[in-house]
Amino acid sequence: MLIDFHVHTTRGSADSNLDPFAMIDQAQRIGLDGICVTEHDHAWTDPAIEDYARARGVTLFCGIEVTTEWGHVGAFGLDRYVGGIYKVKELRRVINDVGGFLIANHPFRYKLDPRFQFIHKTPPIDPTDPDSGIQALEVLQYVDAVEVVNGACSEQENLFAHAVAERLGCKGIGGSDSHSAASLGCAVTILERTVSTVQELIEELKAGRYRAAQGLNIGQLRAFP
Ligand SMILES: [Zn+2]
Ligand SMILES: [Zn+2]
Repeated sequence: MLIDFHVHTTRGSADSNLDPFAMIDQAQRIGLDGICVTEHDHAWTDPAIEDYARARGVTLFCGIEVTTEWGHVGAFGLDRYVGGIYKVKELRRVINDVGGFLIANHPFRYKLDPRFQFIHKTPPIDPTDPDSGIQALEVLQYVDAVEVVNGACSEQENLFAHAVAERLGCKGIGGSDSHSAASLGCAVTILERTVSTVQELIEELKAGRYRAAQGLNIGQLRAFP
């Protein structure tokens, strides 16, 4: 099952141009089986939109991209925003209570290029040393997986995230981070089994039955890296 794990729509993210119906049409066009709608600090479901998706062979899953003091964390298992989860330790506690799953989203975006490092509080990271990335980002201690292919990250940032995930012994997720239709499916996660609910999705994630891939949007699906 091919799922884009990271998508923003006009319904819940002010910075998105992607209408939910257009998103579903595009998913059907490129052969994407599922979409995780992960708005910024917000969750929504809409039966009419889910029906529209189902009729086109697309399953929608609700996640939240939570803004924390350590950056963006993809959270699955919550159907609404919970106060206090901007602190990653509290987010971890809340997610443990519901049996959910956390992903460090685009952990190294703008953090490897020295020209951008001044905007971050994190210590400088050596792009050739995954351990320096692990030491610099405390959030990595609180997540279950790392987003290793993000459609809005550079190749270097994605490859470094992959190296860090391997060093941590955790698996890599792929998500496009789409805010418009063209990039939908440029990064995906391939599940070994088909799922239809968020709970089933979380079970497959916890069992490690998935891998990251890229290129579905241009008809060139390939494993990452
Ligand atoms: Zn983000
Ligand atoms: Zn995002």
